[in-house]
Amino acid sequence: MYNEIKLDKIDITSKPPNVEPARQYYFMAKCREKVRMFEQENGRRPTACVTTFGCQMNARDSEKLSGILKEVGYREVASEEADFVIFNTCTVRDNANQRVYGRLGELKGRKRRNRQMKIALCGCMMQESSVIEKIRTSYSFVDLIFGTHNIYKFAELLYNTFESEGMITDIWEDTDRIVEDLPMERKYPFKSGINIMFGCNNFCSYCIVPYVRGRERSREPEDIFREIRGLVADGVVEIMLLGQNVNSYGRNLKYPITFAELLREVEKIDGLRRIRFMTSHPKDLSDDLIRVMKESDKICRHLHLPLQSGSTGILQRMNRRYTKEQYVDLALKIRREIPDIALTTDIIVGFPGETKADLEETIDVVRTVKFDNAFTFIYSKRTGTPAAAMEDQVSEEQVREGFERLLKVVQDTAREQAARYEGSVGEALIEEVNRDDGALVTGRLSNNMIVHVPGDASLVGKLVQVSLDECRGFYYMGTVL
Ligand code: SF4
Repeated sequence: MYNEIKLDKIDITSKPPNVEPARQYYFMAKCREKVRMFEQENGRRPTACVTTFGCQMNARDSEKLSGILKEVGYREVASEEADFVIFNTCTVRDNANQRVYGRLGELKGRKRRNRQMKIALCGCMMQESSVIEKIRTSYSFVDLIFGTHNIYKFAELLYNTFESEGMITDIWEDTDRIVEDLPMERKYPFKSGINIMFGCNNFCSYCIVPYVRGRERSREPEDIFREIRGLVADGVVEIMLLGQNVNSYGRNLKYPITFAELLREVEKIDGLRRIRFMTSHPKDLSDDLIRVMKESDKICRHLHLPLQSGSTGILQRMNRRYTKEQYVDLALKIRREIPDIALTTDIIVGFPGETKADLEETIDVVRTVKFDNAFTFIYSKRTGTPAAAMEDQVSEEQVREGFERLLKVVQDTAREQAARYEGSVGEALIEEVNRDDGALVTGRLSNNMIVHVPGDASLVGKLVQVSLDECRGFYYMGTVL
């Protein structure tokens, strides 16, 4: 839809419309006028820098921010010396928050040198009232703060920063709204993420996401198909369907549909070559989904299935709603049904009450399931979650020891798994010219492994057959066939 809207045709002297997204296009047109005034006064276009912290959902949101900034006339740059800097924040771990504060401190001096500079903050961290308080008192030079539920209002909020002097704060507690059809600036022309749902209802006891992203809301399937068709027409060959728990997609729609059924329909879209999705809660992963994956030509041979802990006792305290045995049975069933699949996972070390014996249970699962990769995290206490109030927090020394021990097993297993493809042929989507060696290009296999092959920029965006000549730990050196 947005391609059809001409901002210059919008009457910005009239009152703003009350319906969305028309209202946001109206404010984009108003912002464009402000940007033109900036150009006339300064003899150059203003620059904007969007910095993303955190997950794929945030990366997707940042593409929306970039799309609007570009639409209104900003030139996007990588440097935070820009005229408009926005941090799209993450709050899953405390060190993510600390990084944002550190980077904000650096911006203060830049703003002093560039009086026209505007600084904005958005994303999960802004949904925490203690954060807003801290920014108000210690970082009062910030111009705009908004949260996860009203990101679609960015154009309107941006316009407000041109019109008023002080800090603008607009945080919503929750929403049931999904506003579609706003501009988007994709990072890669050939692959794209697509939100299929927002929020989460699971309330794992360590996780802050349900509090900052709100309750689960699924997009209508037709809207998802329309977006994918549009992307394919625009050159996209690989999509990643995004949600905090894609396996519960569609349950709260007026006409419920399962994630497996959605995938069956997405598969039918002509021109689409690869489908990925993220993330799957093990408790909701159905046999039907395994069947769809097994029968599909387009769904990639990769499943990210967060384990978090291998101890049933700890899993209960985490409110994960599966046992060690249930997880292992599920993972082994998937391996049996789809032998060439890569299984990856997330594991938390040092959850309150975790003993050395609990950690041994986790290590046992890693050895049994043989994860192709695992992201291991040290438990980070998030204020407001049930786990933060648990009394038996684990000592730093035990956490460090446990973490190192687990990491070694994870790495050994991942290396062993990676090596099993040496000498075979696979299809890779070439994503970029290698950053360290310009004579190589870097691609991603269906199972999400990286392969470097001799080649040049003309291969970027293409799906090519490659021979996997040499496994070097976690990636391959190969040759295009
Ligand atoms: S499923 Fe659990 S870990 Fe994942 S976002 Fe929801 S509450 Fe957080």
